[in-house]
Order: sequence, then C-alpha cells, then structure tokens
Amino acid sequence: MLKKQKKMMKLFSALASCLILSNTAQAANKLAIDDIDGDFSLMVLGSGGPAALSDRDGGSGRANSSYLIFVEGKPKILLDAGGGSYKNLAESGANIKDLDIILLTHLHLDHTGDLPSMIKTLYFQNSIYNITYQTFPPGRTLPFRVFGPATNGIPFPDAFGAAPSTTQYSSTSTYIDGQYDLNNGQERYLNVFARATSAGTLNYETTDIMPVWTSYNPQTILDEDGLVIKAVGVNHGPVPNLAYRIEYKGKSIVFSGDTSSRKVDLAGNPLENGGNMVSISEDADILIYDAGLGVDIPPSPEYEFFYKLHTTPSRIGEVAAAADVEILMLSHITLQSENEIPNMKALIENQGFTGDIEATQDLKVYNLLD
Ligand SMILES: [Zn+2]
Ligand SMILES: [Zn+2]
Repeated sequence: MLKKQKKMMKLFSALASCLILSNTAQAANKLAIDDIDGDFSLMVLGSGGPAALSDRDGGSGRANSSYLIFVEGKPKILLDAGGGSYKNLAESGANIKDLDIILLTHLHLDHTGDLPSMIKTLYFQNSIYNITYQTFPPGRTLPFRVFGPATNGIPFPDAFGAAPSTTQYSSTSTYIDGQYDLNNGQERYLNVFARATSAGTLNYETTDIMPVWTSYNPQTILDEDGLVIKAVGVNHGPVPNLAYRIEYKGKSIVFSGDTSSRKVDLAGNPLENGGNMVSISEDADILIYDAGLGVDIPPSPEYEFFYKLHTTPSRIGEVAAAADVEILMLSHITLQSENEIPNMKALIENQGFTGDIEATQDLKVYNLLD
C-alpha cells in the first residue's frame, strides 16, 4: 500500500471511530426534554432543601426548589427558581426563550436564587435563535410575567435595630423591580444587553398576591386559553408564601411552596378553614409538597423554628388523604428527610392516603396528558 493510501486509511478509520463515538454518546445522552410528551407536563428542576449536599454528605446533590411546566409541549411556567435550577435546566435540554409565566411561592433564596440566571438565559436563548434565524429586530418583546406574594407587613423584632418601617420580606414587585427596573434595578444593564445581543426588549410584569392563610380565598390569577392558575396563602410562619394550583384540560398540579400546613394561627388558636392546603389541593393529579422535616417532630421549643415553617409527614398524609390527590411528590428534600423516605411514606399512608407517593428526583418528567 502506498504511503499516501495508508495515510488516507488511517484518517478514514479515525473519522469512522469518531462517528461511532458520537453516535454512542448521542444514544447514551438522552435528555429530560426527550421525555416530554402530550399537552401538559411537569419537569423537576430542583427537589432539594437549602443546604448543598453531595452523596458523601448524606444528600443526593439536589438543586433547590424549582419546577418547569410545559403546556402543549412548550415550557410555559417556571415555578420557583432555587439555586442549581439553572444547571439542571441546561442539562434538561429545555429552551425557555418563550417562557411566559414565573410563579414564586415565596422570597426565600432556596426558591429564588437562580432567578437572575434564568432571566439571563431566557434572553440569551432568544439571542441564539434570533441570530440563527435572522429574526431580529424586534426579537422577543413579550413580557415575562412574575406572580408572587405581597408583603405581609411583618417587621423585624426590635432587637435587630431595623428601621420601624422595614418589613422582613419585600413584595414580589419590589423584589423584581429591584433587579430589572430600568432606573433602579441592580441588573438594569440587561435592558441594554437584551437589545445588544439581538435577544429583544427586556420586558416584564409583576403581580403581588396577598398571602392570607387564615381564611380560604383562592385567587384566580390567570385564565387564558384553557390554562387556569390559582393562588392562595399557606402558613410558612412569618414568611409570606403562596400555594399554586395550575389546571389545564382537566388535569391539575398543586405546589405547596414551603408551609407548615398548620391548622392553628400564630397564637395557636384553631383556624376555621383548617389551613388552606386541603382546599387548594382538592382532587389534584399531582401535589408537590414541602417534605423538609422528614419526621413528625414534636412541637417543642428546640424544634419550634422548623416546626412552624415546614410540614410533618403525618400532616402531609392528612392533607393528601383529605384532598384525595393522585400523586404525592415529596419535595424540598433535606438532610433530615433524605434518609427518612420509607418512614415518611409509612406515616403518610397511616393517615389513610392511598395514592402514589414519590420522592421527587431532579430532572424527572411527569406527563399528565400523554
Ligand atoms: Zn425552602
Ligand atoms: Zn421557605
């Protein structure tokens, strides 16, 4: 064989093995987006609690709270955007350039930490699309619509020395304006960036919802093209928190956010409505629940802080059974709850719950209408 022919053969076999390798990689590299099927789907972007924990630490490397809801096969609603959700979004293969709605349960960082990264990628995914298909200008002009709790007016305890008018939590509109407002937002440069990168015009709308949980007054915050979203306040101690119910074509997803689901007010008096989690979850196909406690801790002073913020497994079971939900997804998995999954399931079933119980996994997909 001539030297030149040998060289060609070598090159050919190298190219062939490259092709085989890339085919194998493609076959092995199935993405979460490939599992999306039908008109209404849920993708888990974050199922963890507020501490970053590897397997070695007793955790599972979970991202903070975040879920992506697909309507007619497209990512339409982002439900919280806790830390790590951006990385999971990148790994999922989902493109959020047309994302429409952001629902924030509350303004704790383990539910909002990656929101700026999500907003930036939303515009950059438009940039890539518009440059590829030469659709700029104008690019994306539609606003992203953010819904979240209004402030509940609770100030800091005196000992902190905060100004008397300072509330512990801002309203959602103050929080979002604080990031993107053209004149005052800390990330206001994105207004220029969106246009400079051919993404479009940075545009957003905010809606503050009163997080009242002492009575049951769910608000329909959106009713468009068969998609209905309801919000109601649920008890997360002094933290304004909303549970959301998303309905489409007869199916429903409910997310508790963080809640104690308590049946008493802050002074310990029984609530007439029994807390709002049962009513908002009625007959839900999927109920995503804050399972951060992991055990039925007693309401003693040393646990009081956690007990007042999150729900015991038995109370989760009581709510899920009373609401008669199909699938109960245990979310907000912390170090305490990670190893308690079988015990949690037993406690939940003891309350008479007979539906499916799942320990939520990052990047898992649920198709409600396939
Ligand atoms: Zn949380
Ligand atoms: Zn919280």
